[in-house]
Amino acid sequence: MFRLTNINGRSAFQFDDGFVDVATTAGDESLADPMVAIARFGELASLYAKAAGSTKSAGTPGVCVPKPSKVFGIGLNYKSHAAESNMELPPAPLTFTKFPSCLVGPTADVELSGDTVDWEVEIVVVIGKGGRHIAESAAWSHIAGLTLGQDISDRKVQTAGKPPQFSLGKSFDTFGPIGPAIVSVDAFPDRDDIGLWCDVSGERMQDSRTSNLIFTIPYLVSYLSSICTLEPGDVIFTGTPDGVGMARGRLLKAGDVIDSGAEVIGALRNVCVAGK
Ligand code: ZN
Repeated sequence: MFRLTNINGRSAFQFDDGFVDVATTAGDESLADPMVAIARFGELASLYAKAAGSTKSAGTPGVCVPKPSKVFGIGLNYKSHAAESNMELPPAPLTFTKFPSCLVGPTADVELSGDTVDWEVEIVVVIGKGGRHIAESAAWSHIAGLTLGQDISDRKVQTAGKPPQFSLGKSFDTFGPIGPAIVSVDAFPDRDDIGLWCDVSGERMQDSRTSNLIFTIPYLVSYLSSICTLEPGDVIFTGTPDGVGMARGRLLKAGDVIDSGAEVIGALRNVCVAGK
């Protein structure tokens, strides 16, 4: 197994007591680029084991996938969230893009674009091996690992069009905190049943498991690859469970703290600040 993140723009392994530089461990400077390390994810488990014995450094993780070619978002992928949104279950994955410039690290501030900004905790897939027409049965072997994300959404902008197009309302700068690390699939006791939750300023808002997904992670990889060639580092936000602010009549305001968590992966902490 491995936990891969980004410290000061360089690939780094995450341990409980600090970080170890990947390229230094490997004696291969090309692995310093996190996107290269993701594409070479098959080499990382043995390097992670080697790095375990090295002296750890302190650091603050940045974006664990700094330059993906594509960032997919999946809407209404938990029945409970579709119900609270008064939306019918989609017959196929309801797919939009979060433009890659919205991604930020696990402790970055979220800059509010207005007074209709909402939280959405999600498990995030990071593709390691690209391909087209990937079979559902082969999908997990194309995944470098999983991380945690917040699909921050400006509800007013998201639903402004007729019909609405979600992508821009979910792509304001800072609307995609991810991290703290990409965790290899073999680290999960059950890769199809991962608990995730979200607290806003101390109140538990979302609490579910990926076993409740309508379209499973292998299905999403297979479906998206039937349309687009997937490339190493491509990112899929897999959808959010119920408990978003829109359904509660309580949206984000400056000073709110969004604490997101997932089993095995870890936590995000993002403070909301007024946008410029
Ligand atoms: Zn979402």
